Amino acid sequence: MHFYCERCKKEYPVATHAYACECGGLFRLYQSAMDIADRHEDVTLGETQTPLLPIEMDRCRFYFKMEDRQPTGSFKDRGAKRLIGELVHIGIDRVVIDSAGNAGAAVAAYAAAAGIACRVYVPDDISAERAKQITAYGADVIRVPNGRMNASSVARAELGSDYYASHVYNPLFADGIKSMAQEIYHQLGDTVPDYIFVPVGNGSLLLGLYLGFVEIGRLPRFVGVQSTKCAPVVEAFHGLQETPRKSTIAETLRVGAPPRLPGILKALRNSSGDAVAVEDSEILKAAKTLNHRGIYAELTAAAALAGARSFFADGMPDNYRVVIPVPGSGLKR
Ligand SMILES: [Zn+2]
Repeated sequence: MHFYCERCKKEYPVATHAYACECGGLFRLYQSAMDIADRHEDVTLGETQTPLLPIEMDRCRFYFKMEDRQPTGSFKDRGAKRLIGELVHIGIDRVVIDSAGNAGAAVAAYAAAAGIACRVYVPDDISAERAKQITAYGADVIRVPNGRMNASSVARAELGSDYYASHVYNPLFADGIKSMAQEIYHQLGDTVPDYIFVPVGNGSLLLGLYLGFVEIGRLPRFVGVQSTKCAPVVEAFHGLQETPRKSTIAETLRVGAPPRLPGILKALRNSSGDAVAVEDSEILKAAKTLNHRGIYAELTAAAALAGARSFFADGMPDNYRVVIPVPGSGLKR
């Protein structure tokens, strides 16, 4: 198993302390069938298959994939488990990550379980709950002003000799998220959904699910959902002019320039999907709808629901299977 550059194909060992190729290209994961049988996932916090909850709304039936049930309260645990499991095996003992909260908590928790020291760079405007959770796992939290993208730049600048356990740059992370696609497929009776509405910040959920369905051999249509206040993917997908990035209420969608934008666009196009932006007011309305159905989700789930509702404003064919991931718990917001 090794990383390779998606641009020039140069190979790197997984233990590399480079976070991207010297040519500037990002890494992808290469693994043979033998590697897959020999995966190192000894680090566990007792993960289970998360529920796929069918709910009827506005004459549409949506299946909510309840990732808030993961050990640290978000889907990022799938990636952190895969990444930290492998890092422990190759003897990495210090990791750094930047995060709007969920990935930081996930990597901090699995690093704690594995006895790996962890430093997390967060934008200084994340919720107190998110920062508190990361600190509680014993990680050093470094608050960085001027937004999510800057937290990422500072983390890389201060990496030193530590390993960059990034949910964006490190392809082992997306590899772990593939398992969500397999679960959805089995929970729908070994069929692929017609649509999946995915909130997109850095795109780790979308890219992980996409890779998972590529392996299954059939793709659902992926619809990327963003806030109108920060919609780089929607703008690039539809060839629209860039608008100024503002601070949406959905914290983890505050990513003005996702490093893996080309991969995100490719996933949307290859799946004959789409990209939609929703107003923050629609996100709040969708959050209320979810809450009144007993679901206390983070606002990205509400964004995805708002996107699905506007997409199917004229109704949805009866036989459609439409999945909406609930990326994380509302308790963190
Ligand atoms: Zn390269």
